[in-house]
Amino acid sequence: MNQHLIQASYVAATALFILALHWMNDPKTARRGVISGVIGMTLAVLATWLLPDFIVHHVWIALAVAVGFGLGVPLSQVPLTAVPQRTALSHAFGGLAAALVGTAEFFLWLQGHQAEMTTFHVSALLIEVLLGGLTFTGSIMAALKLIGVSWIPQRPVTYPLQNFSNLALLILAVVLGVLLVLDPTQAAAPWIFGGILVLALAFGVLLIIPIGGADMPTVISILNSYAGLSAVAMGFVLNNKLLITAGALDGSSGLILSVVMCKAMNRSFTNVLFGAFGQVQAAAASGEQKSYKAETAEGAAQLLEQASLVVIVPGYGMAVSQAQHKVRELYDLLTKKGVTVKFAIHPVAGRMPGHMNVLLAEAEIPYDALVEMDEINPDLPQCDVVLVVGANDVVNPAARTDKGSPIYGMPIIEAEKARTVLAIKRSKNPGFAGIDNELYFLDKTWMLFGDAKAVVGELVKQLSGSAGH
Ligand code: NAP
Repeated sequence: MNQHLIQASYVAATALFILALHWMNDPKTARRGVISGVIGMTLAVLATWLLPDFIVHHVWIALAVAVGFGLGVPLSQVPLTAVPQRTALSHAFGGLAAALVGTAEFFLWLQGHQAEMTTFHVSALLIEVLLGGLTFTGSIMAALKLIGVSWIPQRPVTYPLQNFSNLALLILAVVLGVLLVLDPTQAAAPWIFGGILVLALAFGVLLIIPIGGADMPTVISILNSYAGLSAVAMGFVLNNKLLITAGALDGSSGLILSVVMCKAMNRSFTNVLFGAFGQVQAAAASGEQKSYKAETAEGAAQLLEQASLVVIVPGYGMAVSQAQHKVRELYDLLTKKGVTVKFAIHPVAGRMPGHMNVLLAEAEIPYDALVEMDEINPDLPQCDVVLVVGANDVVNPAARTDKGSPIYGMPIIEAEKARTVLAIKRSKNPGFAGIDNELYFLDKTWMLFGDAKAVVGELVKQLSGSAGH
C-alpha cells in the first residue's frame, strides 16, 4: 500500500516541479512557482523517506536533513547580488551528493551485489560520478571566482595546449570507464573507479580555470544542467523514477537558460567554455583625453520633469546600491507629473538572469512599466530622456559599432538614440567587460556622479520640492 502512496507522491511532485518552472516564466506567478517547487521537493523527500529500504536509516536521514537546513538557511540569506555564487554552491552540493551516492553504490555492489553490475547500471553509475565530480569542483571554483578570493585569479588562466590537455584528461576518464564497464568486478576495479573519480574532480577545476568572471553566471547555469544530468544517471542507478524526471527538468532548464544567456551576450557555447573571454585586454589606448560632462541633481530633475517620455535603464549599480526603492519614488513622482516612465530591461543586466525584474518587483513597480530590450529599442528615438541607473555594458554602443570590442555583437539597449542621456555611476570606471563606454562622452550625455541610491534620492528631493509647479 505504501508503494502506491509513494508512486502517487512522486507523480504529484513531478507535476509540481513542472508547474514551478512554468510559473517562474512570469514575475506575476513566480512566487507561486517557488512555493510549488518547495512543496514538490518536500513531498519527494517525505515519500522517499517512506521507501521500505530506508526504514533502518531514520537517524542518518534526520541528521542529513538537519545539516542541510543548517547550511541552507544562512545560504538563503545572502544579498541578491551574491545569488550567482550561492547558486554555484548549491550545484556543488548537488554534484557532491551524486558523486558520493555513486561511489557508495559502486562499493556496495562490489561487496555483495555483483549481479547488479550490468553494463547499463555501471555505465549510468560512471556517468553519474563523472558529471557529479566535475560539477562539484567546477562549481566550487566558479563560486570562489565570483566571491573573489585572492588566491584564485578572476581572470581567465590560460596556458599552451590547454583545451587539448583538458580533452585528453576527459578521454582518459572515458577509456578507464569503458575498461570498468567491460569487467566491473576485476581485481583493479576499486583503483580504476578511484582514478575516474580523481580525473572528474580535476577536470572540474581545469574546465573553470580558463573562464573569466564575466562568463561565470553562464557557466554556473551550464554546471546546473550537468548536475541535473548526473541526477538522471543516479535515478537509473537507484531505479528511482522521480530522480530521473526531476534531474531531466533540472538539466534541460539549465541548458535552456545557458542558451538564452549566450544569445543575450551574442556568445556561442563553445566560446563561453573555451574562449577565455575577459582576458587581460590591451588596456584601451587612452591617448586622447575624452571628457565627461557632469550635471547637478537640480538640472537633471528639470530635464526629467519637462520630458514626456523617460526611459530608465537599470543595471548592476542599481543592485549594488539597492536604489530600487528610491527609483520607485522617482517613478511615482514623474508619473504624477504626467511623464510617461518606462523601464528598459536588458536580459543580462546585473549579474544574474532576471536580476532587474526581481529588484523592480521588490520595489513594487508595476510589471507593465517593464519593457524588454527588443520592444523598447524602437521607441528610444522618440524618448526625451534616458536615465541610466548603474548600467554600463548593456548600453555600450561599442557592441554595435566597434568590431574589435569584446562585446561586439551583444544586443544592447540603444540609449544613445534618445534625445538626452542622464547617467548615474560613481566614477569613470568601466563596467563588467572592462571597457570604456562611448555613450558617456556623447554631447547629449550628462553624468550624475555618485552612488545610485544617493543620486536618485537627490533627484526625488528636487522633484518633490517642485511638486506644486
Ligand atoms: P556593468 O556593465 O557591470 O556596469 C555597472 C556599472 O554600475 C559600473 O560601470 C559601475 O560604475 C556602476 N556602479 C557600481 N556600483 C554602483 C553604485 N553603488 N552606484 C552607482 N553606480 C554603480 O553592469 P550592466 O550594464 O548591468 O551589465 C551587466 C554585465 O554583466 C554585462 O557585461 C553582462 O554580460 C554581464 N553578465 C550578466 C549576467 C546576467 O545574468 N545578468 C550573466 C553574465 C554576465 P562605477 O564603478 O563608476 O560606479
